[in-house]
Amino acid sequence: MFNPADKKFLSKIEIACGPKVFRPASQSYKEEPRGRWIGKIGAVVAPQNVSEASKILKICSDARVPVIPYGGGTGLVGGQVGANLDSPLILSTERLTKIIDIFPEEHVIVCEAGCTLEDIQNEAKNNNRLFPLSLASKGSARIGGNLATNAGGIGVLRYGNARDLCLGLEVTFPNGEIWSDLRRLRKDNSGYDLKSLLIGSEGSLGLVTAASLRLAPLPRSESTALLFVNSPKAALAALNITQDFVSEGLSAFELLSGQGFSFIKEAMPSVQLPFSKIPDWAILIQLGFGSARNAENSMIKLYEKICYHKLVYDGVLAKSKKESDALWKLRETIPEANRRIGAIASHDLSLPLSEISTFIDRAQIELSSIGRFRINCFGHLGDGNLHFNVFPETGKTKDQYSSQCDVIESVVHDLTVEFKGSVSAEHGIGRSKVKDLIKYSSPVKLDLMRKLKDLFDPNGIMNPGVIIK
Ligand SMILES: Cc1cc2nc3c(=O)[nH]c(=O)nc-3n(C[C@H](O)[C@H](O)[C@H](O)COP(=O)(O)OP(=O)(O)OC[C@H]3O[C@@H](n4cnc5c(N)ncnc54)[C@H](O)[C@@H]3O)c2cc1C
Repeated sequence: MFNPADKKFLSKIEIACGPKVFRPASQSYKEEPRGRWIGKIGAVVAPQNVSEASKILKICSDARVPVIPYGGGTGLVGGQVGANLDSPLILSTERLTKIIDIFPEEHVIVCEAGCTLEDIQNEAKNNNRLFPLSLASKGSARIGGNLATNAGGIGVLRYGNARDLCLGLEVTFPNGEIWSDLRRLRKDNSGYDLKSLLIGSEGSLGLVTAASLRLAPLPRSESTALLFVNSPKAALAALNITQDFVSEGLSAFELLSGQGFSFIKEAMPSVQLPFSKIPDWAILIQLGFGSARNAENSMIKLYEKICYHKLVYDGVLAKSKKESDALWKLRETIPEANRRIGAIASHDLSLPLSEISTFIDRAQIELSSIGRFRINCFGHLGDGNLHFNVFPETGKTKDQYSSQCDVIESVVHDLTVEFKGSVSAEHGIGRSKVKDLIKYSSPVKLDLMRKLKDLFDPNGIMNPGVIIK
């Protein structure tokens, strides 16, 4: 059905864009962070502007050569790795790195798709503003990839996910057409919301080449605390008290399990933990206010309130920006520790908040009837988003469980759906969860999605195998 990115095809791209568009097909384009998907590559190209991107996509579509849009390569569901394809073209946004404009008084930034998330955060900060999307992968992930996956991260509770932060898009489609809508409007009800459809489409409908994004006021007073709780139920009760007490001042509320800290100790012994006894569960809270309110005082009062309700028994309050950064660094180290231990199965779930505690108990019970595992359950509790990851028992490796992987995933995902949750909260569908999307979605939704795919990409060259076939 598809043709390879062969010499004849590549010479057409060279004529259209010149030789500088080609990049060496290095290993980094073939792998993804967890090493679960390995892809083949025909060639790698990196256009320097939208016009070149449009020419490349049209050539691919006419020649029926599959294209994989590529940002920072940090996606966790295999969307950026063409494991099912023989010789695809990798279309990297790494040269689209211009901040096009910034409007601090409007709280808006406009930038090309290849800007890293961290570059955008820094540019906003230099202008006294906050770009609130924040993920541990911020140094490598590019905004086009963040939008293509509708990334979430730690700031969703207060500021929303990537979709909520996007005001306008520029997108190039496989027929070479460019839709440029980089307006800076908060309100725009002029017809179907194409922007929202394209956000989260994981490169299966078009290539995001630029975006206008919402900024927020930079918090003037911030405070971070890592508090120890006895259970996810206590963590949820603490969340409610926190929201009542500080309302919009709550910037992040993360749930961490003791297993995650144990993994850091086991796999990354050089990392210092700021406590001697590992707690069963912990919550990481970040408050942020404008200059009218002192965050540290509020955090102390909040701690007293939560203690009064006997929900927290100990913790660490950051006394400086450095200590706050260290607590967040610890949180961000958990995925790396997980990677080193090696998960048998990883799940990115969202659940109604009040079901989370029962879900965790039920999932542990059901999994214990299949085998002996270690579970690291952590996530963005304020958003109802859990990373429920299943690991081998001590002394074993994930390869020894390969026959159980599918069963484990089914148990966890079936239970998630039973609790009216989603089996893809923030990472997307990619290549990893296509079967789950089909299993758990309504036929009406799937039919409409297939029709949309055919409409945007009639030759099916945009990231084949991702989301919908
Ligand atoms: C340590 C770590 C922590 C993470 N934490 C979080 C987290 O907290 N929350 C979260 O949501 N995710 C998280 N992720 C996942 C990942 O960082 C996000 O999915 C990120 O948004 C992907 O951006 P990227 O530029 O790396 O995209 P890539 O990995 O390059 O691509 C991801 C998908 O988007 C498509 N794509 C890329 N660029 C474009 C474009 N310009 N136009 C159209 N399609 C495109 C690709 O084809 C692919 O399908 C984490 C990853 C790591 C490694």
